Amino acid sequence: MYYLDHNATSPLRPESLSAMTQALGIGGNPSSIHAAGRAARAVVEEAREKVAALAGARPDQVVFTSGATEANTLALFGAAEGSLDGEGARLTRLFVSAVEHASLRATAERLAERFPWVRLDILPVTAEGVLDLEALRVALREGKGRALVAVMAANNETGVVQPLDQVSKLAREAGALLLVDAVPAAGKMKLDFSLCDYMVLSAHKLGGPMGVGALVVADGAPLAPQLVGGGQQHGLRAGAENLAGIAGFAAAANTLADGAGERARLAHLTERFEQTLKQEIPEAVIFGAGAERLCSTSAFAIPGVTAQTALIALDMDGVMVSSGATCSSGKVAVSHVLRAMGVDEALAACALRASFGWSSTVEDVQAAIASLVKLREKVRAVQKEEAA
Ligand code: PMP
Repeated sequence: MYYLDHNATSPLRPESLSAMTQALGIGGNPSSIHAAGRAARAVVEEAREKVAALAGARPDQVVFTSGATEANTLALFGAAEGSLDGEGARLTRLFVSAVEHASLRATAERLAERFPWVRLDILPVTAEGVLDLEALRVALREGKGRALVAVMAANNETGVVQPLDQVSKLAREAGALLLVDAVPAAGKMKLDFSLCDYMVLSAHKLGGPMGVGALVVADGAPLAPQLVGGGQQHGLRAGAENLAGIAGFAAAANTLADGAGERARLAHLTERFEQTLKQEIPEAVIFGAGAERLCSTSAFAIPGVTAQTALIALDMDGVMVSSGATCSSGKVAVSHVLRAMGVDEALAACALRASFGWSSTVEDVQAAIASLVKLREKVRAVQKEEAA
């Protein structure tokens, strides 16, 4: 089996599995004051440190959630509800990049529906998938009340990295809040939480378990809890903490603490994949190739070979890749990311994504290329027959 779909989910790291098994054995609630409770609390607090280090933040700024979808929801609704007091500070404008993940985009749309005083604007990207900074600058000048800008650190489909330094500068100058979905970027590039007000993380893209993530919140950023009841996590997210999940998340984050070597290894695999692809299949198109991209993600297309055909053919060779975003696979829809980049619909229908991670090897690259070459020959033969 050749797994090239780490942006969908990364297999569980052995370090995470071991930390989770240990945590499951504790048998105490982190809110209890007895010895078992204290042991559980120690796991959560230690995890907070490791996850904070990954984001470049302080441990007390980390709120554990059930994943990035919940973290995006907590940030958006939390900011809107948390800023209701005081006219001047009320959130009235939402600026969301056109390439954000559905969990952010759909939540922003829902927020604008529920709170009629909030206006949502989608910010365009260039043909390379990079946020149009001029459009952001102009947008921030318009309207009254507080604005929130949501721009991901890097895109999950193309790996294109966004100019967060400049986005942050523009947001700060306008007094706007900045929400950064760092899910695909975490562990693949250095994160600097000081640039933003909210940062979203998910464990399962790092080799941690699914169903756990975090929202990192800056001091003073508005945040009304969305889950209430128990006073867990300083009242910001009620509910007994997912102890095993949090322990597994932290173990994955910890293996990335000094990630430069791993990033270089992944960059080497991605480069090798793209170089060989272009060599063997010169008509192949690599999306966002002119932009800065993550070390681990390659979005590409072989014109005339649809993603649906390719996914099945590759799977038969044991090669697992993705077509566009995982969350939209299963539905035959053109990727909103490629559409925002102005990619021709016919080419976008051929888009595939290879994404590498901790368990990836050069054999994965070789198997994927061999399978793609075989498929392209087959498709050509069929096309020739049809033309004859
Ligand atoms: N944001 C991005 C950029 C993602 O890629 C994903 C996962 N596909 C999410 C958010 C949602 O993460 P989770 O599965 O933890 O809810």
